[in-house]
Amino acid sequence: MGRIKEIAKGARSLIGSMGVTLKHLKDEPVTVEYPAERAPISPLQRNAIRLIEKEETPGSHNCIACLQCEKICPSNCISITGYRPEGLAMKRPETFDLNFALCSECGLCLDVCPTATLGYTKVYDKAGYTRADFFHDLLEEYRETEEQVVEHLREADRRKKAEREAKRKAEAEAKAKEAGDAQ
Ligand code: SF4
Ligand code: SF4
Repeated sequence: MGRIKEIAKGARSLIGSMGVTLKHLKDEPVTVEYPAERAPISPLQRNAIRLIEKEETPGSHNCIACLQCEKICPSNCISITGYRPEGLAMKRPETFDLNFALCSECGLCLDVCPTATLGYTKVYDKAGYTRADFFHDLLEEYRETEEQVVEHLREADRRKKAEREAKRKAEAEAKAKEAGDAQ
């Protein structure tokens, strides 16, 4: 008798579960077949940091190697060296390394960056076998365009200098005219 009761209980449970399945058969799926498919992630999601392309430096980041992100990082996971290309007012980074194994994704480096050139990657399932797998060279994606960007920045600096000169000259001429009119 006990066995029949067990079978009846199992059958009821099975029919109940089938009912739930049938009820939701036409619903849109809420899961994806990862890793073949990936769900969209929120633009606010934090992950490993990266240098982002900026309008003022087409094809590249606008890091000026000020080291503020390196200094503020509570996990000491950023390491940067900078250099000043000839004819440029600001520095550029020569190396920019991130030890993502130590990063807590706190976002302080993004907050402090004066050129807003730090952002997050969209990679949310980073895995590796050795520590070296978590060392990121943040300049890697921009090496090919670096020379071009430095030249673009030189040109922008030359233009700004010429504008300042023209303004200074115009102001000096206006002052001289004023002085002449007063006599
Ligand atoms: S997000 Fe935080 S822990 Fe990660 S590199 Fe930036 S400052 Fe350091
Ligand atoms: S704070 Fe910004 S500009 Fe300064 S070194 Fe870091 S990424 Fe570069």
